[in-house]
Amino acid sequence: MADAEQVPESIADLLPSFHVLRLPMVTRFRGITEREIMVFEGPHGWAEFSPFTEYGVPESSRWLRAALEFAGVLPGSARPSGSAQPPETQPLETQAPGTQPPGPSGAARADTDAPEQSIAVNATLPSCATSDVEGILARYGRVGTVKAKVAEHGIDSLPDDLERLQEFRRLFPDTRLRLDANAGYSPTDALTACAEFASFDLQYFEQPVAGVEDLAHLREQLSDRGLPVVLAADESIRKAEDPLRVAELGAAEVVIVKVQPLGGIAAARSVLEACGLPAVVSSALESSVGLAAGAELAASLPRTRHSREILGEHPACGLGTVRLFAEDVVSPDLSLKPVDGEIPVRRVVPDPRSLERLAVDSGRLDWWSTRLQACWSALRPTLNSRC
Ligand SMILES: [Mg+2]
Repeated sequence: MADAEQVPESIADLLPSFHVLRLPMVTRFRGITEREIMVFEGPHGWAEFSPFTEYGVPESSRWLRAALEFAGVLPGSARPSGSAQPPETQPLETQAPGTQPPGPSGAARADTDAPEQSIAVNATLPSCATSDVEGILARYGRVGTVKAKVAEHGIDSLPDDLERLQEFRRLFPDTRLRLDANAGYSPTDALTACAEFASFDLQYFEQPVAGVEDLAHLREQLSDRGLPVVLAADESIRKAEDPLRVAELGAAEVVIVKVQPLGGIAAARSVLEACGLPAVVSSALESSVGLAAGAELAASLPRTRHSREILGEHPACGLGTVRLFAEDVVSPDLSLKPVDGEIPVRRVVPDPRSLERLAVDSGRLDWWSTRLQACWSALRPTLNSRC
């Protein structure tokens, strides 16, 4: 592991350059219409550091650990076994002025000689007018699993949510359906909503209520009433020890995991092994650069009998979120945009033209530079303490 000399005080010594970008969203999602992210390149390839802007330093430092690990920048980090190979790329800094930037046939193309794995992903149906359901889902092509957002305005949304789900089932009677309330219900309202949603043949219902104790209580109530609704924990899992607590309390039967909040692929794999619950790898609303880490984790997870029973043979991941963005950081041929319900498992390289076009102004760049150093200062002692 790293020694003190390998762990510099200034992140600039490890990460001399990075890009901060603002990606416009197709539709409002998670209350935002634009997503700010940082991307950088390391020895293993490109990585994304993108805690939401309201997140504080202690939480964001775990996201930084994940990004540094994926890029191979973390001192002492080694490539995880079975990880996707980085694409062959020409470092952006060494490109001669006036040369053609990497594109569909350029030097930054992914390594197409390596066998390419792919993973299933769900389509996402945001809160929308019932008349928009068909058009929104048509953008995804053929998909086996759809996740519908509900409870945008708590229980007040229930009539609209039910109407939208009825339209969905009319259009797609055989498609697997998940719901996600993003902790939008009170405990009492959650039970009311579950009783209504139970007839839609759900695969699972993500985070109807906020707290892990309330999830556990709701699960007991569902069982007592014989309501066939499988609960999944998402917002209850924001750091590596959280899946263990969900399992201990019996709060959910499925855990939704994201690479960045858990501190990286290696940390996520070890905590899931300890937790023992079926896992669905999801995105933290990342660009293709960040999604590549999620895809790598998803492809490496073992399929247990319990997982097959709840999620099927090829569980759809929540990694199809590039479609929620109006712009990505990579050229279209490298995008991890789902095609017919699948995305490839591969590392990607940003298109220099996108890095330029989507760059934030100097004020936001300064804000992210300060945040990066603050997160590094919080992360650094945890690296030193492992010596
Ligand atoms: Mg969720």
